[in-house]
Amino acid sequence: MSADAATLPVSRTWQEMAEAVLQGESITRSEALNILTAPDREVLSILDAAYRVRLQYFGNSVQLYYLKNAKSGLCPEDCSYCSQSKVSDAPIERYAFLNAERLLEGARLAAESKARTYCIVASGRGPTDREVDHVAGVVRQIKDRYGLHICCCLGLLEPDQALRLKAAGVDRVNHNLNTSERFHEQICTTHTFRDRLQTLNVCRDAGLELCAGMIVGMGETLEDVVDVALKLSELQVESIPINFLTSIEGTPFQNLDHLHPRFCLKVLSMFRLTNPRTELRIAGGREVNLRSMQAMGLYAANSMFVSDYLTTPGQKAEEDFKMIQDLGFEVTAGDYDAQKLIEFWNQAKQELKR
Ligand code: SF4
Repeated sequence: MSADAATLPVSRTWQEMAEAVLQGESITRSEALNILTAPDREVLSILDAAYRVRLQYFGNSVQLYYLKNAKSGLCPEDCSYCSQSKVSDAPIERYAFLNAERLLEGARLAAESKARTYCIVASGRGPTDREVDHVAGVVRQIKDRYGLHICCCLGLLEPDQALRLKAAGVDRVNHNLNTSERFHEQICTTHTFRDRLQTLNVCRDAGLELCAGMIVGMGETLEDVVDVALKLSELQVESIPINFLTSIEGTPFQNLDHLHPRFCLKVLSMFRLTNPRTELRIAGGREVNLRSMQAMGLYAANSMFVSDYLTTPGQKAEEDFKMIQDLGFEVTAGDYDAQKLIEFWNQAKQELKR
C-alpha cells in the first residue's frame, strides 16, 4: 500500500460527513482519501461516523454468507493473488465441477439451517455453456425444493449465459472488480478491468443483482482503493465484499503482507460512507488482517463470511457467533436457531472436506 497520498485538509468532521451521508449527500473523493490517510488516533472517531450510517440502514444486524467451492483450481487465468491460477504452485485441492448431488446436498444443509443465501463459486475464466446448463439445472431443483436465495460466482459471463442463469432462478452474481482500472494489469494480464465491468453490465441487463468488491493489500495506492469504492457506488451494486489479501505461499503475491488492522478499519469505514445503503461484507482475510480487531469491523460492515474461504481456512463458526453476541449484534440469516446454524456450518465444513 502506497502511503504517497498526502493527508488532505479535512473539509468536514467525520460526524459532519456521516450527517451529510444520512441526508442523502455523497462524501467527496478528497474526504474518502482523508479517511484512509487519517492518523490512527482518529480511527475510533471514523468508525463511529461509519457506525452511525450503518445503524441507520442496517441496524445491528449481521448477514452471514457461506461459500460452496463448486470447482477448485485448474484455472487458465493468471490472477497473482489467487491460489487457483495457472501461475500458482499453492498446494490446494483441485477438482472439476461438483455434481448435482453434491450441490443439492449443500443446498439441503443450507435450507435446514434456514440460511438465506447459498453461494455457488467456481474457479476459471468463465463457465462453459455446459457448466452454465449444469448450474441452471441444479438451481432450478434447489429453488423447487428449498426456495433459497442463490448467488453464483462463475467468472466472466456472456449475455446469454447470464440470461440462462436468471431464467433458472439465480438471484445474484458475484464478480469482483478486485482493484482499480489503473492497477488492474498489475494483478492480472489474461483479462482486463473492462472485461470485468462488461460481465457486471451483462448481469445487470439480465436482471440479476450484483455483488462486486475488491481485494485490498495487493500493492495498490490509496487512490486506487478510493477509485474502487466510487466505481461501485456508481454501479449501484447491491453487495460489496471487501477482501484483505491473504498472501498465499506459491502465488506471485506470497510476500505481500503489509496490512494493518487499523488501516483495514479505515477502509471499511470509507466504503460504508461512500456506499451507505449497500450491504458491506468483510470477506477473505478477516482473521489474518483484522486480527484482534475483527469485531470492530462490524461497526462499519453489516455482513461477513463464516467458516472457510475458497482455499484458506476461517475461524470456527462458534467464535464468529460469540463475536457477534459480544457486540450485542444480531444475525439475520433467517429465522433459525443459532445452535442449529453452528451445527450446520460445522457439518458443511466436513462436507466440503469429503
Ligand atoms: S479467474 Fe478466478 S479462479 Fe481464475 S485465477 Fe483469477 S481469481 Fe483465480
